[in-house]
Amino acid sequence: MKQSEMLIPTFKEVPADAEIKSHQLLVRAGFIRQTASGVYSFLPLGKKVLRKVEDIVRQEMDQTGANEMVMPAMQPAELWKETGRWNNFGPELMRLNDRHDREFALGATHEEVITSIVRDEIKSYKRLPLTVYQIQTKFRDEKRPRFGLLRGREFIMKDAYSFHDSYDSLDNTYQRIFDAYSTIFQRCGLNFRAVIADSGAMGGKDTHEFMVLSEVGEDTIAYSDSSDYAANVEMAPVIADYQKSQESEEPLQLVETPNQKTMQDVAEFLNHPLEKGLKALMFKVDDRLVLVVTRGDHEVNDIKLKNLFKAESVELATEEETKAAAGAGFGSLGPIGIAEGIDIVADNAVEYTTNVSCGANKDGFHYLNANQGRDFTIDTYADLRFIKEGDPSPDGVGKIQFAKGIEVGHVFKLGSFYAERMGASILNDQGKSQTMVMGSYGIGVSRTLAAIVEQHHDEDGMVWPANIAPFQVHLLAMNMKKDDQKQLAEKLYHSLSQAGIEVLFDDRKERAGVKFADSDLIGIPLRITVGKRAEEGIVEVKHRTGADKTELHESELLEQIK
Ligand code: ATP
Ligand code: MG
Ligand code: MG
Ligand code: MG
Repeated sequence: MKQSEMLIPTFKEVPADAEIKSHQLLVRAGFIRQTASGVYSFLPLGKKVLRKVEDIVRQEMDQTGANEMVMPAMQPAELWKETGRWNNFGPELMRLNDRHDREFALGATHEEVITSIVRDEIKSYKRLPLTVYQIQTKFRDEKRPRFGLLRGREFIMKDAYSFHDSYDSLDNTYQRIFDAYSTIFQRCGLNFRAVIADSGAMGGKDTHEFMVLSEVGEDTIAYSDSSDYAANVEMAPVIADYQKSQESEEPLQLVETPNQKTMQDVAEFLNHPLEKGLKALMFKVDDRLVLVVTRGDHEVNDIKLKNLFKAESVELATEEETKAAAGAGFGSLGPIGIAEGIDIVADNAVEYTTNVSCGANKDGFHYLNANQGRDFTIDTYADLRFIKEGDPSPDGVGKIQFAKGIEVGHVFKLGSFYAERMGASILNDQGKSQTMVMGSYGIGVSRTLAAIVEQHHDEDGMVWPANIAPFQVHLLAMNMKKDDQKQLAEKLYHSLSQAGIEVLFDDRKERAGVKFADSDLIGIPLRITVGKRAEEGIVEVKHRTGADKTELHESELLEQIK
């Protein structure tokens, strides 16, 4: 394309409101413009690179057998009320009313919409598994929109949802999509780690985030210097494996503890609904240790607990007691758990978590005398809040290091959280009705774009990996007023284009200095300059990253750069 015909408004100054490189460079190079806080327009070059990322995502998702579709941004409140998220999602959900005063949400995510479609259309196990995805605009009224495309209030996400008749089937799809994500981020030229993430209130043991290593990342990850182990330090330890108890000589005993309150009671008592973002605190209530799960911003105080448990004394457990409890079988930050001698406030809203964790079940039961090691194992045994750099990695291989990460992707085994609330069920092979099992898988497409720039730039501008670059070749005519230069440049523009090479032709009547500076800023991998030796048919070739300039005759050019 001809640069003279394109909207590429570049400038030199660092924009005052842009704190990080990707934000500064994408604005300076004319890829994006802010329309409102956290809301961006993609100008032509921005749109091109966005599409490159989208195409990679699309190709790899298609490979997994997922089907592309597109769902509405505008979603009726009724759907969100079915799952309780109309209240629980909080102020991040953008809401609006239509002229009849009906309530709507702008899609922050699409579990409700897709589950409502699938529950109406799929009635038999024979139609499962099914995975669908879309690449679409999402809305989240972030408290602190910042860092340009990294944290927007309107942004582009690839979101996928899978539906299953069994956890085995979910495991399968999860692994396939996990692998596809690894390929996607490799093709984007990113240095990343897949980390074990916090499943919060909705998940089981399996949820991973894909973290691009970067100083500007808002997450901290702990990883082993000599194995694949990596985890978000936010995450709670997770009880991973209950298989052993089937074989153990003393089978676990499920007992009901009449005076034990369920999580629902706690939630109701604390007047706070159960949802993602739950936090847990350890208390000593009389002589028992009690795990209380609540939202991080909600205050749990001893008076409330005293009343709730009709206890004599209540105090916050010490760090040591909390640590011991975490080691003994449940995370001090997770809404799950079993352990010897510890009463558990069961989270009865977390079907899948309790399923895999063998923790307290829906009705407030718990297991007696369960022992870590004998009856269950813990995936990330240590509570990462207590880990220091250089400590042994929880997987036993290597030492722990810390790094900052940008969350570009997230895969999640949802279990039947949504399907149950929305009545998505199928008839299984026995002809019995059964709730579906689901997974969800997100990639921040626009955030990925910014993460690429964070990892690929120098002091002169962006340095696009070839897979993502808006064009492969930047063709510069140093002086368009000189006929020989103009003619040769135009000829090359046509021959390169015809050979299927994406060329940006700087045919503007600008000074050479301006063109070179813009070219470095925009960061196309290969620059071809038509200058003084145009008459002889000689051009200069330079890679964006290298200092070397090579002179070539135009006749050799195609051969050399293909
Ligand atoms: P974060 O922890 O950064 O707020 P999240 O965990 O809330 O992200 P998810 O619900 O997991 O986000 O959404 C899937 C993906 O969408 C994320 O992994 C991220 O790449 C992207 N994403 C989420 N919020 C934003 C945002 N405000 N701007 C750009 N991308 C986002
Ligand atoms: Mg978020
Ligand atoms: Mg997150
Ligand atoms: Mg996430």
